[in-house]
Amino acid sequence: MLIILFATHRPDPRPRIAPPWAMPDTSGLNLPPLPALPDLPDFAAGQRIQRPNLDVMVAPEIYRRDDQILLAVELEQALVYVGERFGSGPAAPIQTVVQMDVGCMLNGAAFTDARQLVVYACSSTARPRVVAIAAHEFVHQLAHDRYGPTHQASDLIILEGLATWGAGTYWLSGMPSFRAFVQRQYSGQLLPLATPYQGRPIADMNKLYYQWASFVEFLIETYGRERLDALATTGTRAPGSGDYSGIYGKGLDVLEQEWLVWLAQS
Ligand SMILES: [Zn+2]
Repeated sequence: MLIILFATHRPDPRPRIAPPWAMPDTSGLNLPPLPALPDLPDFAAGQRIQRPNLDVMVAPEIYRRDDQILLAVELEQALVYVGERFGSGPAAPIQTVVQMDVGCMLNGAAFTDARQLVVYACSSTARPRVVAIAAHEFVHQLAHDRYGPTHQASDLIILEGLATWGAGTYWLSGMPSFRAFVQRQYSGQLLPLATPYQGRPIADMNKLYYQWASFVEFLIETYGRERLDALATTGTRAPGSGDYSGIYGKGLDVLEQEWLVWLAQS
């Protein structure tokens, strides 16, 4: 079953790397303006749970203390997993805040300059769902640490595709790969890769994230990680804006056709 990760509406805060509805307009060539960090609750020092590379704070209304500690351990496991899958770990500890959302709309945001990750949840949110969101956001931080801040303005296909691909098993719902997932879930109903998600239904946004993850998987399997790393710092945030021709010797249109053939082989 497809995990629905995105809620319908969240105008504030406006994170740097975020679920689709918070994304700034990407029509310009410059970096998007940097939004302010959200006002976070002033957690008591005793509520902070420190793990290797993680500093976890959970709003007390969401989980009891023993569940908070379990969650911190699960988040640490997720960070280790995505670091191994992505190929590099965090440059420094990441502050992870699980914040109450009274509307119970699960989503997350990574403020990678500040090394801060926020997951919005409520008391009825199962811990694995918080961890799944965090796994994706962790990869945004690892990508920032690997590629530098230029990555934040890169092609959205690669920016979000990498974060989703890197989350691996946390987003795969038991499927062995993103290729298999996309083929199973979306065969015959794929969107063009360079589709902006603004104004689209949530289901389309989810579909694009999975398509982009499978495209990243295709690029790595077919052309190797080195070229994907080069691609990850190109573009102007708009989907399809990366320098595919310069790095792969062929445009996105050609690579997309190859990806479709590759998908059908699963
Ligand atoms: Zn993301």
